[in-house]
Amino acid sequence: MSLLDHLSAKLAAVSAQSLKRSLRRADTGTAPRQTVNGRELLMFCSNDYLGLAAEPAVAEALAEGARRWGGGSGASPLVSGHSAAHEAVTDTLARWYAPHIPQARAIGFCTGYMANLAVVTALGDEHTEIFSEQLNHASLIDAARLAKARVTRYGHADVAGLRTLLEASTAQVKLIVTDAVFSMDGDLAPLPALLALANEFDAWLVVDDAHGFGVLGAQGRGSLEHFGLRSERLILVGTLGKAAGLAGAFVAAHTTIVEYLLQAARNFIFSTASPPAVEHALLTSFALIEGPLGTARRANLARLQGQLRAGLVALIERHPRLGWSLTEATTPIQPLVIGGNAEVMALAAALEAAGLRVPGIRPPTVAAGTARLRITLCATHTAADVDQLLTALGRAAAELDASAPPPHADESLAKALSYTG
Ligand SMILES: *Cc1c(COP(=O)(O)O)cnc(C)c1O
Repeated sequence: MSLLDHLSAKLAAVSAQSLKRSLRRADTGTAPRQTVNGRELLMFCSNDYLGLAAEPAVAEALAEGARRWGGGSGASPLVSGHSAAHEAVTDTLARWYAPHIPQARAIGFCTGYMANLAVVTALGDEHTEIFSEQLNHASLIDAARLAKARVTRYGHADVAGLRTLLEASTAQVKLIVTDAVFSMDGDLAPLPALLALANEFDAWLVVDDAHGFGVLGAQGRGSLEHFGLRSERLILVGTLGKAAGLAGAFVAAHTTIVEYLLQAARNFIFSTASPPAVEHALLTSFALIEGPLGTARRANLARLQGQLRAGLVALIERHPRLGWSLTEATTPIQPLVIGGNAEVMALAAALEAAGLRVPGIRPPTVAAGTARLRITLCATHTAADVDQLLTALGRAAAELDASAPPPHADESLAKALSYTG
């Protein structure tokens, strides 16, 4: 069989399951209102939670950084790519996490995917057992696959299950690996309980705070600040392409761990450092996150979140037959679980026709039968924006409700048949 025929058959299968993905072209920058494929849409899909991607001071700092440092970094960090701007970023992060991690030091990466790969493959050697949470981000799952360590999965937020697994483990080094905020559910990992287990079983806790950084905690330092955690067992991964509004990622951990990553993380050693202009701009982004603007934006996010959540609860109560549900989300990620792939894509298309972009998320990103609209809020949305979304969802729900089959039609039919014998 030719490769092209082979791939065409696979692509046809993807389409048949309503799983085909495609690119959309943004014609303007990231913002609540963005022109996409030539049309302005109200967006509920970016992870730019604080609206910093569109903040003039951040763009200006990026331009200033480019004027000062030029374009790319030219080499990997250990060769010549590590600039004073890079160092200022990791120094700031080391200071931010000093209250949470004794002898904290930070190391930078170009993306969160790379940072996760570095931590999990470098620390997950043959003496290690990795305990990986069921709903972890794909980058952590891929990293665990590449690691030489034994990998054991534990259930979502299942602290008791993890305890049993830790008790049974004979590994020299135990690494618990979890998202802090689950990216498709918007709920928080029980980090205090996980850290208590780490202490009890001499394990280490890798926390991927991609969606907590900038958003959680009074100063925006993320889930460690939110929960008030402090331990040398904490290994924090933060990403800078989401709430920080730019690009990149970091690992903050005890200095010995960071020194080891510098020696052993192949994707740190053999990959070009990020452009210094981005690092320069990150310093402005950090100042905004911890300053009054960040405080005000986090407060607005909390207000919008409350408004959206209340509206979604009311919508679900009005239309019980649709079987829609919410997750335990307590963050700007507020998914509306629909169920089937085709249904969620039809709903996303109806919203898009009404001028709103809310992505439908399907397997394998989420479990089969739990396809969902992943609604994300940005601090620069307005209450009127959230109302517009709720109104459009309300219209779509009313239409679907009018045409939906009675709930559990197949089950009641089966029951009726079994009664009649
Ligand atoms: C987005 C994300 C990443 C990857 O970060 P990038 O900087 O986009 O590569 C890692 N983990 C989680 C939980 C994420 O949501």
